Amino acid sequence: MSAKGVADSRAKAHAIHEKLVQVYGHPTWRPHLDAISEVVSTILSQNTNDGNRDLAFNRLRAAFPTWEMVRDAPVEEIAAAIRPAGLAPQKAPRIKQALQFITAQCGALNLDFLKDVPVQEAKEWLMQIKGIGPKTAAIVLLFALGRPAFPVDTHIYRVTRRLGLVDAHISVEKAHEALEALLDPEMYYPFHLNVIRHGREICQARNPRCSICVLQNWCDYYNAQMTAAQSASPVPSTSD
Ligand code: SF4
Repeated sequence: MSAKGVADSRAKAHAIHEKLVQVYGHPTWRPHLDAISEVVSTILSQNTNDGNRDLAFNRLRAAFPTWEMVRDAPVEEIAAAIRPAGLAPQKAPRIKQALQFITAQCGALNLDFLKDVPVQEAKEWLMQIKGIGPKTAAIVLLFALGRPAFPVDTHIYRVTRRLGLVDAHISVEKAHEALEALLDPEMYYPFHLNVIRHGREICQARNPRCSICVLQNWCDYYNAQMTAAQSASPVPSTSD
């Protein structure tokens, strides 16, 4: 993309951010889970909804009060505790391996050192863990460690492609880097939360509610729909 193209995309991203803040407010930072809990929670969240994830997480904590106990527990017992999250036979060994990996690398179940290394390095370190991709790494860094990383979930991926902030054919992995480049680091947290909210309430997967959307002016998908509708309209007759 040319320098002007990048500047235009950044200006568009900033304008969308401002509009979303105007409509939904500026989400205030609130403490989230610690980094180890966030790793476990995001593994649990794969292919399920927030309610089932939280149920499984709370059951796991009740069964094993410390993460060291989860790390050292038989996989079958972990799987039994996390069953509500689904895919327990896959997620249980993934959680155990992640905890074993962190212990082996860090000497303890503590990821605080990631607060002090460059963000890209921190992401790459986390993505060495099986089951942790760019989204989970960014969630752990942003929400648990307060680092400037931008997680792209399914709502953000859909909405930002429709808006044309990122290319319609971009991979979700590449979308992380592309969106980080368009936003200022202090925008990551509010933009993440507000775009997810917009995706849930307005720009829904099957039926985007474009007619009531406050982002029409900036939306490539909307503009393409309008252009197509206009060219499909019958040409008015000029004869009497
Ligand atoms: S105008 Fe439609 S497609 Fe564009 S962001 Fe709004 S709801 Fe989504």
